Order: sequence, then structure tokens, then C-alpha cells
Amino acid sequence: MADCPANCGALNDAPAPEHERVRVLLPLPLPAALDYRIPDGEPRVEPGRFVRVTLGSRRMIGVVWEGECDDVPAERLKPIMEVLPSPALPAELRRFIDRVAAYTLAPPGMVLSMAMRSEAALLPSTPRRVCAITEAGATALVESPPPKRLTAGRRRVLEVLRDGSAMPMAEAAREAGVGAAVVRGLVAAGLASDRLAPPMPPRVEEPDWQAPGPKLSAAQQKAAQRLVERVESGGFHVTVLDGVTGSGKTETYFAAVAAALARGRQVLVLLPEIALSVQWLERFRRRFGAAPTEWHSDIGQTQRRDAWRAVANGRARVVVGARSALFLPFSELGLIIVDEEHDLSYKQEDGVCYQARDMAVLRASLAQIPIVLVSATPSLETVINVSRGRYDSVHLPERHGAASLPSVALIDMRKEKLPPGHFLSPPLVKALEETLADGEQALLFLNRRGYAPLTLCRSCGHRLQCPSCTAWLVEHRFTGRLLCHHCGYSVPLPPFCPECLSAGTLVPCGPGVERLSEEVAERFPDARTALMVSDALPGPRAAADLADAMAAHRYDVMIGTQIVAKGHHFPMLTLVGIVDADIGLGGGDLRAAERTYQLLHQVAGRAGREERLGRVLIQTYMPEQPVMKALAANDRDRFLEAEAAQRRAAHLPPFARLAALIVSANDAESADFAARALARAAPHVPGVAVLGPAPAPLAVLRGRHRRRLLLQAERSVNVQAVLREWLAKVKFGGSVRLQVDIDPYSFL
Ligand code: ADP
Ligand code: ZN
Ligand code: ZN
Repeated sequence: MADCPANCGALNDAPAPEHERVRVLLPLPLPAALDYRIPDGEPRVEPGRFVRVTLGSRRMIGVVWEGECDDVPAERLKPIMEVLPSPALPAELRRFIDRVAAYTLAPPGMVLSMAMRSEAALLPSTPRRVCAITEAGATALVESPPPKRLTAGRRRVLEVLRDGSAMPMAEAAREAGVGAAVVRGLVAAGLASDRLAPPMPPRVEEPDWQAPGPKLSAAQQKAAQRLVERVESGGFHVTVLDGVTGSGKTETYFAAVAAALARGRQVLVLLPEIALSVQWLERFRRRFGAAPTEWHSDIGQTQRRDAWRAVANGRARVVVGARSALFLPFSELGLIIVDEEHDLSYKQEDGVCYQARDMAVLRASLAQIPIVLVSATPSLETVINVSRGRYDSVHLPERHGAASLPSVALIDMRKEKLPPGHFLSPPLVKALEETLADGEQALLFLNRRGYAPLTLCRSCGHRLQCPSCTAWLVEHRFTGRLLCHHCGYSVPLPPFCPECLSAGTLVPCGPGVERLSEEVAERFPDARTALMVSDALPGPRAAADLADAMAAHRYDVMIGTQIVAKGHHFPMLTLVGIVDADIGLGGGDLRAAERTYQLLHQVAGRAGREERLGRVLIQTYMPEQPVMKALAANDRDRFLEAEAAQRRAAHLPPFARLAALIVSANDAESADFAARALARAAPHVPGVAVLGPAPAPLAVLRGRHRRRLLLQAERSVNVQAVLREWLAKVKFGGSVRLQVDIDPYSFL
């Protein structure tokens, strides 16, 4: 008996039903893939192929998936309507999707949908009319004297087409600077031909890995060598590139990027908030003479389609993207870099809740390639993985060149006397005066958008609140509106108190960056001041232009929220003032201290990046807080040790596992009812504790009432298995929804 030619393991003389049906995963929140029939006489469809099918009355694109088919009778199966000509979703990416779904407990189809963000990329492109020079045209061009019918415009078109290759008609006209009618006239005269042709894929610039980078310092050279060795030896391996701000981490990992390119591999670089990373893109271009392929929420449909295809067919060699770039169909991925690996924006909290840094490690392990996690303030998770010997670590302890780390001092706000409505303490004002007198620049950091975080009535004490969230409305004075930062609700600032109807009694409480800029303008009327805050900048380009203007010293003082913290390099910036260091420490977030340290350290790292010495002043009401002491002493490692000890004692990650369950419903009763049902079914498993239900801190969000439960487990527990069993016991009806967040970051 011979083996089946289709290699399915079935035997030739037995009918092989697997040949007639396949599983198709659809980008929908269904529990699993569905079976479809392969139409009679059609060949087998390989896993990974994109197919068009119907679900109910909907036509959809899905992907042929591996796995056992169900035993639905064949006559009840719907047929596959069409196998799309696009390249298959690579097997490695399919495994990744399955694993992400299993880890996050998200329906696999929802994870797949992240890999199908461009439907246009899967469909054949519409052909376009192209034209080419004919023999008659070529002759006419060289004839002398020139033939009469060869007008100046026609001649220019023929010159554009001279090399013989076909070109879209519109493009030929544009390049020759003539109207479309001129090109059509050429065709009519027989000097050019036209036909329909599929569009050429857009050109993707190829980075030049041989282009020389800057001369690396000895420490950088050593670090780069370690990374390059990993790329060259191949195989899965995690290296943490741990270097102080300004130590040249980017230059160092560029060496590894070059090494991967030299070996013909693709590279993925993840950046937090890619929209703000124009400086990074420019640096990449300077180094490699080409732009990388970008992938993030700000790119348009066409760019998205082209990028997806270019990644799939290998023309895109380097992709720089936000977390969703992890789900691109790389065919030859050889290296992943996660820059600012500690950054909070790697955690996605809606739809599929996943931590992109962790999933990047998973992807690297499935692909058997090296990954580099880059940070000046690595997350505690990463630090512990280094101490456990799972990750390697490479250090860059010093700033590059003549720059040294800034000095850091705390300002004890309990001792400072400030007039009401003012937020800059005398020592910070003095430092600003000195900096400006020296012709240097200052940065004031306040992580609060708008004018004031709270508006209240002086007369009755009423606080202005969002009608659909448990949150205060934030005044934005430039636009004259009150805004909910959670749901986007916005109203004009009312002229009187909505509660007691008194006029002129609403007062702002506390500072936002807009209010701070008023204070700076009042104190330093001659200083050129810029406000760097996402809602005042219409897009990434505007943010980059503002950063460029700051770098070129067209401003003296920059006031900003956390978007100033990342990546920027301002040579004349010597003073950083942190206006309210305590903001991030409130609330029940287990990572509050760690995050505050990371953010403030990063902001502080903007000071003194060149020869001029930098200084950092931190205004705090809690100078005794370990975070503040660590910042002042620049003692990251001691802080991390203390933080680790605390988390270990409290059985918190990374020494234990957490999963959050968020139940939401249109009304409080349904939410309570569902949450209690969930709690009653809670598992009784050794090493597992379930806390709650409790109203979420954001008890109402976008009009939905929310309750939280928290599952806390020892590291040895298979949390996913416990959750799966638990959740299978509870069914919700009506408006109730359940969101599962494995390794939660936000506790709102
Ligand atoms: P990090 O990513 O560690 O904050 P960067 O890679 O941004 O540091 O480097 C900080 C600054 O120093 C940048 O302007 C960079 O161009 C410069 N720099 C770093 N290393 C070198 C080098 N070997 N030669 C020249 N300039 C360097
Ligand atoms: Zn009132
Ligand atoms: Zn709201």
C-alpha cells in the first residue's frame, strides 16, 4: 500500500475525507475554527491560504487552519467560495496566533484579526492602464528633422518612456508635465502602445547594512559584539541591553540590525508610541540610507496594504512598528528589538489583552531567533528574568562622549511656600532664572493634560463629573471645554454651577500643563515657551517639528507631559523640573512605584545630554518615598531590590501570577449579579486565591458598570487552565460582558 500522494497519512485505497474538508479560522470572536467543504474536484487547500467563505449571510475572508475537523456531516458544510491568490499566512505566524490566544484566553479569531489588518493586501490589485514606447515612437525620437506630429509635449513623454519599460499613463503624463490627453494622442498616433497591467508593487528602499555607522566606544563595541554574535549564531536567545539614557543603546543595537540584514534576514523593531518617534526614523535613515517600513495606527490604508505585502514577500527588510507589528507575516524574521521594553504602551488593554514585549519573546522563541530588550530602566519582570539566568544582560554604564549624568535634587514641597494657584517652588524658579540667563534650555514636566484636573464649585462644593464615567472632567482652557479623559465626552465650560446654579463660582483645582504654561508666561514673559502635549499637536509630524524647533533652540522652555520623556535629544537642555513627582504614586496599581521611577528617570535623562552639565529638580511632597530617594541617589539597583522584596512578600508579579476579570453591564444590578455568579463558581485550587468582586475604581466607564475580580496564583499554577475551567461554568446573558486580562497592568 502506497502512501497518500497528498501526504496526509491516509492510505490510497481508503477514502480520505480530510481531502474534502478544511478548517477555516475567521477573524471573529468565535471559540474555534469552522469546517468548510472543498468544492468537488478542487485540489487540496494548504493551511495558511486565505479563502473566502460565507458565515450566515456574511461573506468573509478567513485562513485555512490546522487541526482536527469536526464530524459535521459533509452535506451540511458550506463550500469554500474562493482561494485568494495572496501568499499564505506563514506557519510560524499561525503557531504564534494559537499560542497568543491560548495565553491570553482570547478567541483565536480575534488574535488572527490582528494579523489581517489590511484586507486590501489579500486581494488582487485592480489592473491599471500602462503605456510603453513603440518602435515607431523610438524612431520618431531620433529622426531628423523631427517629424511634425512629434510636438514638444509628445517628445517629453517619449523621452520619459525611452528606456522601453511600461509605465502607468497618469504617471508618464505627470513626469512629462503634460495632460493625459497628450499620452492618449501618442497612443492614437502609434508612437506609444497601451494595455492593462497589474500595478507594480511600490518600491521598498533597501537599507544598506554595509554603510559605516559611527565609531563605537569601547563599551558600545563590546555590547554590540555580544548582540552580533547572537544574530550570527542564530537560535532563540533574549538579551537585555541595559544602558543609561544617552549611552548609545540605539547605535549599539543598530550593529545587530546590520548583522541580521547582512545574513539576509528581516528585522522587527518595536517602539512605544511610534507616532512620536520621528527622530528615531531619521536616525535610521542616516545610518542605513533608507527608510524602514512603518506599521502603526497612523498609517493610511494604502500604506498599510503595501507594508503588509512587502513584509509577506520579503521586500521589507526592516519593520519599525507599534505592538501590532508583531502580527505581520514575516517570512525571514531574524531579529526582534523591543526598544524601551519597560514602556506601558506595550500592554494592550482592549480587545485582545496582551503584553507585546512578552509576546515578542514568545514569537522569537517560536521563530528560534534572538531578541533584544532595550531600556535604561528595565521592568522588574525583565530584571528578575536576568537574575534567574533566563535572559542575558549587556551593560552600557556611561553616557556617550563628554556627557555625564545630570545631578538630581529633591524639593520638599511641604516646606515651600507658594501663592495659591502657583506650582513652581522658589528653588525651581531660581534654577529656571539661572538657566535662562546662561542661554540654556529648560524642560518642565507635568504628566497632566489640560488646564486643571478638577473643577469645583466654591459655593456648594459640587465637582464636575463625566456623565458616563466615574471620573472628573478636565478643563481644557485653550479649547474652552471640559473633557473626560476616559471616554472623550466633551462640553463647553458652563457659565454657572450645574448644581446650585450660582454664576462665577466654578474654580479650577490643581495644575495641568496649560495652567503651568500660564505661570511660566507670568514669571518669565520674555522666555520662548513651547507646550508639548498630545492634544495640542495634530499629528506625529507636528510633534517632530516641535522637537526639532526645541533642538534648534528656538524655544527656551518646554512644558510637556509624558510625550517629552521619550527619545528626545535636546543639546542645550540643561534643566529638567519635575513639577509634581507624586502624581503616579496614588491608586492601587502594583507597579505605581516602578512606573514612577521609570518615567521620572527617563524625563531626567533629557538633561545634559552633551557637554553642558545637566541638573534635575524634583518637586515632591514625599521626599522619603523610596522612589524619590532612588532618583536622588541615582541608585536604580537598590530601588529595584527593595521593590522586588516588597512584591515577593506580597505575592505579586513577577513572583506570582495575576489575572483580572472585569465584568461589565449596562446597569449596576446586572453587573453585580454576574460578578457574584462568577465569584460563586471560583476555583478552589491550591496556590490560587480569588479576590473580589469589587466595583472597579472606574466603576462606570462609557456608561457601563464594571466589577473586578482578581485571581492571584503561585508561579507554578497554570493560570490559563484554571481560568478556562472556571469560566466554562458561568454563562452570562443580556448586556453582560467579561474581559479577561492575564498579567494586568491597569487596575482601573
Ligand atoms: P540611548 O538610546 O542610550 O539614550 P542614543 O543611542 O540615543 O542613546 O545616543 C545618545 C546620543 O549620543 C545620540 O545623539 C547619538 O547619536 C550619540 N552617540 C551615541 N553613540 C555614539 C557614537 N559611538 N558615536 C557618535 N555619537 C554617538
Ligand atoms: Zn455650586
Ligand atoms: Zn467619560
